[in-house]
Amino acid sequence: MSIDLSSVGIITGRKEIITNYVVNTFSILVPLGGTLVGLFFFSACSPTVVTVSIFFVFFLLNVLGTAIGLHRYFTHRAFETSSFFRLLLGILGSWAMQGPIDRWVADHRRHHRYSDQPLDVHSPYWNNQKPIDNGFMRFFHAHVLWMFVGLPTDTGLYAKDTLSDPISRGCSQWYWSLCATSLLLPALVGYMVSGPDEAFRSFIWAGCFRVFLLHHLTWSVNSFGHMFGGKTEKSRDEARNNLPLALLLFGEGLHSYHHVHQSTAVNQPAYLDISGQFINLFERLHIVWNVKRY
Ligand SMILES: [Zn+2]
Ligand SMILES: [Zn+2]
Repeated sequence: MSIDLSSVGIITGRKEIITNYVVNTFSILVPLGGTLVGLFFFSACSPTVVTVSIFFVFFLLNVLGTAIGLHRYFTHRAFETSSFFRLLLGILGSWAMQGPIDRWVADHRRHHRYSDQPLDVHSPYWNNQKPIDNGFMRFFHAHVLWMFVGLPTDTGLYAKDTLSDPISRGCSQWYWSLCATSLLLPALVGYMVSGPDEAFRSFIWAGCFRVFLLHHLTWSVNSFGHMFGGKTEKSRDEARNNLPLALLLFGEGLHSYHHVHQSTAVNQPAYLDISGQFINLFERLHIVWNVKRY
């Protein structure tokens, strides 16, 4: 039985598909290219203590922008917050260079709606409604290939709220400018701390390499996080709780728990969910409120 894809919020228009692929290509190739330049000229730009420090600060902000901002706030509305904090989360989330907010939200909501079913946008088990049998292709499709062969998700259907909010809509419209700040701001900090050589090192490692690393960590939740690890009780899909990913991505690797309890702000076990602990702290400081918990 064939499905009318547009009726379930999947875009088949050629122009939109090509635009989506172009956004994905540049978002991925720029940080990858910078990382390769850094490796190729490693002796000329090997990281210093200053570079590593700038890397960790921006990495922390960026992981929180992705986990708390893009995922738990903009997609799942796990808490409420002020316009200022929403803007901050929108900027830090956009720094991850994983597409404009409205598209990230739409793809992720579609992933939850059809989790590991034929219409899932990035399941290891389905590629455009065709089952995937090969183990490597399962990983490869869920990790990165879906961004170049999959059909885009209709933001008008799946992300109405982010489109109608001027702050998240503005972040989506200014996506490329925010990507530029994501890569250039570490360079500016490096320049201010110790001059032009450090600016270049920080651009490469705290800018490009940071985004490259976060790309692969986030995509690992889609690939490894739907293949390896235990399941939470009442799980109805292939999402897994993966300890290394939970540690590296501040709790986001507790992915089976998250699929069972999508709107909760704090995953269990809570001590492994650093993002959830940050949300608890923000709540105590009255930065966020109406925090959802199970
Ligand atoms: Zn998932
Ligand atoms: Zn989610």
